[in-house]
Amino acid sequence: MRILKIQTLRGPNYWSIRRHKLIVMRLDLENLAENPSNEIPGFYEGLVEALPSLEGHYCSPGCRGGFLMRVKEGTMMGHIVEHVALELQELAGMSVGFGRTRETATPGVFQVVIEYLNEEAGRYAGRAAVRLCQSIVDRGRYPKAELEQDILDLKDLWRESSLGPSTEAIVKEAEKRGIPWTQLSARFLIQLGYGVNQKRMQATMTNKTGILGVELACDKEATKRILAAAGAPVPRGTVINFLDDLEEAIEYVGSYPIVIKPSDGNHGRGITIDIRSWDEAEAAYEAARQVSRSIIVERYYLGRDHRVLVVDGKVVAVAERVPAHIVGNGRSTIGDLIAETNQDPNRGDGHDKILTKIELDRNSYQLLERQGYTLNSVPPKGVICYLRATANLSTGGSAIDRTDEIHPENVWLAQRIVKIIGLDIAGLDIVTTDISRPLRETDAVIVEVNAAPGFRMHVAPSQGTPRNVAGSVMDMLFPNEQSGTIPILSVTGTNGKTTTTRLLAHIYKQTDKVVGYTTTDGTYIGEYLVESGDNTGPQSAHVILEDPTVEVAVLETARGGILRSGLGFEMANVGVVLNVAADHLGIGDIDTIDQLANLKSVVAEAVFPDGYAVLNADDHRVAAMAEKTKANIAYFTMNPDSELVRKHVQQGGVAAVYENGYLSIVKGDWTHRIERAENIPLTMGGRAPFMIANALAAALAAFVQNVTIEQIRAGLKTFRASVSQTPGRMNLFNLGKYHALVDYAHNPASYEALGSFVRNWTTGERIGVVGGPGDRRDEDFVTLGKLSADIFDYIIVKEDDDTRGRSRGSASDLITKGITEVNPDSRYESILDETAAINQALDMAPDNSLVVILPESVNRAIKLIKLRGLVKEEVQPQ
Ligand code: ATP
Ligand code: ATP
Ligand code: MG
Ligand code: MG
Repeated sequence: MRILKIQTLRGPNYWSIRRHKLIVMRLDLENLAENPSNEIPGFYEGLVEALPSLEGHYCSPGCRGGFLMRVKEGTMMGHIVEHVALELQELAGMSVGFGRTRETATPGVFQVVIEYLNEEAGRYAGRAAVRLCQSIVDRGRYPKAELEQDILDLKDLWRESSLGPSTEAIVKEAEKRGIPWTQLSARFLIQLGYGVNQKRMQATMTNKTGILGVELACDKEATKRILAAAGAPVPRGTVINFLDDLEEAIEYVGSYPIVIKPSDGNHGRGITIDIRSWDEAEAAYEAARQVSRSIIVERYYLGRDHRVLVVDGKVVAVAERVPAHIVGNGRSTIGDLIAETNQDPNRGDGHDKILTKIELDRNSYQLLERQGYTLNSVPPKGVICYLRATANLSTGGSAIDRTDEIHPENVWLAQRIVKIIGLDIAGLDIVTTDISRPLRETDAVIVEVNAAPGFRMHVAPSQGTPRNVAGSVMDMLFPNEQSGTIPILSVTGTNGKTTTTRLLAHIYKQTDKVVGYTTTDGTYIGEYLVESGDNTGPQSAHVILEDPTVEVAVLETARGGILRSGLGFEMANVGVVLNVAADHLGIGDIDTIDQLANLKSVVAEAVFPDGYAVLNADDHRVAAMAEKTKANIAYFTMNPDSELVRKHVQQGGVAAVYENGYLSIVKGDWTHRIERAENIPLTMGGRAPFMIANALAAALAAFVQNVTIEQIRAGLKTFRASVSQTPGRMNLFNLGKYHALVDYAHNPASYEALGSFVRNWTTGERIGVVGGPGDRRDEDFVTLGKLSADIFDYIIVKEDDDTRGRSRGSASDLITKGITEVNPDSRYESILDETAAINQALDMAPDNSLVVILPESVNRAIKLIKLRGLVKEEVQPQ
């Protein structure tokens, strides 16, 4: 077996609209192509031995053991690799369920599709699955040690990529609310929503969190002063910078017990509490010094540690934090009890689980000593032995929810204090013996205010009710159930995507919105080019969707991007499919036009149920997409008598129709005429039917997004695609006595489209200069010849300079063959050199004629035309 290619999909795709995270592995089974699993001796047994948990895979039989049954009866290796890759991820703690395997048109080569949670882990699992299966084929087994290593590696990849617990809670809540999120490329920034409506977060700081508030909170001494000045209870204390000042400081706070801590520390680093002697104080000073220059010395207050979380001015959760401890059972030593506690599957390393494993530090031993223990002591049953002085979850502490117990006065005080500090999200550390009584009654203090407080203790307390604090954050960032998105209009089709995308963007600009759009020639925001190049894939979509100035996104969505990595967004508001015609077949395992239609249909399907799929009613493959999408349907048609559209409108649907020379929106009993085609420059005076179709699609897409008819009309009448913007796209030149047209039509459907324009040229003779890239199939050249015979009065057949491996003259012969098949009396000649051919056509052009050039080099053709003297770009240009 050999892996030919691995692709990572990240959005709605050919295989699934809903499952975005898929690995597609192109796998050559090589010598296994002929052998289903039942014909490989010992394979079934070897597989069951290596991965007994495959028993849990139902597969097509639909019951436990279903998949293994298939292996026993005989299934192809690609299918087995799929299941193994899924199971490996499962064993590493990543729950994935989706997989598909299909044979390609190349015998023995399969596409194996597997779901992933982490990209790298997904690719790893794919490779490991191939390795595992190959080993069982070759040796009857896969070594246990290797499997264990695979799973460890997968777990590592998963852990490294996982978000912190607070961020995790936030993105989960976002997903629940249909708010799209993306991780930006730096500083763990999370973007919620799109474009102008996006919000950002980093851990639990938002784009609204003020820098002044954060800096104040991070300076514990300054915070205490501001709070004291406001009458809030804070620990009595002082700040020192030298050991020499320690003694005096201790006196100032009223002697032992005291607390020594760095003035800008966090996570309990460098803090010593309940200091009762000079020796301890000196050691504590040194420890704090490791973290900060300035050292806080303050009175030690008796009580339990509470964290009060305030979001958007309201207390949303209260947790009591209990320091790491064990409870005696009268039999085990403290050391054993710690080990036992750490066995709890809820305890992980760092922040990756609800709780963190208990680790002892220098203070722990002192603490034990004070309680009269060593690690080998056996505490009596039920007796609590504390192992850490402070209650941070990250040092093994646990949390008890106390949200329902806090006294209203404390709520009021906490909310007031957070306003004073100036934070939108803050956590107050309060030491009190009883949070259900007002602070002043219990001699309680507010120890500090935290910016970016962790959410773990609230969303997953070890005791009590979990609180959806991420929900409160979302309510603040996206009030009134806003989804934070912007309208997304996605355009696909075999031909006309760029034109329609540009036109649609132009129409939308009439609403005074900032439109971001992507096309084959570049990415634009408003009038400006952001980046040039073929930008029809997901990365370019991201540029637009991540841009905080963009109010509407119009995205040309080409097949290449969908195949390579899926769509660059989750759902669009409008998905436009213009047409499906043979082009690029045989590339990327898309071999038939129906497969191509399935691929393009992703754009129609990845639309919100309340959005619209704008479909070409005149193209049966496109019209059929109506069956597959959950969105509303809007049809456009060049045929005013279209039965499909008549029915659709009768049932209350909306459509755009070309009727009596007008582009019109038809809805219910009403026909809203937008404009006469001949007044729309893009349609070349109404003579280019395919441009009328593109304009109908754009108008309809805008209409279903509530752009007004007046705005659509204004857009259609003012849209001009200049030669400089779209070279080779229907560029028409007026040479005084005759016209010349340069177009880069490159597939039969676009020749056909071009033909429909040329046929409408009724003032004079039509001369064609035709040819095409040598890597097209023979039959494509014949088709081109046939179409040419149909369209032109006189044909000059030429070839590209670069024949792309074809022998000189062969393409020309095939075209000629097509011409004569259709009409043996056709007038034509062959001039293989493109420059000579073009010059010949321009030389011979009679008055009022049209010379149509399908060049290899658009620039050269335009230059040759311009050499002819007075040239005016017609209709389109400006
Ligand atoms: P975190 O990042 O977890 O909030 P931190 O490093 O910022 O911790 P503090 O919040 O200042 O440190 O102190 C940690 C804990 O130590 C407090 O939550 C409290 O339980 C205890 N503590 C700190 N100062 C005092 C004090 N003066 N009296 C009693 N306990 C205190
Ligand atoms: P690409 O795949 O190269 O990006 P595209 O789909 O973006 O192409 P355009 O650049 O808009 O298409 O148009 C390319 C050519 O396709 C035009 O010059 C014209 O010859 C032809 N064309 C445009 N619209 C249509 C249509 N609706 N039907 C058939 N052919 C069309
Ligand atoms: Mg604290
Ligand atoms: Mg394009």
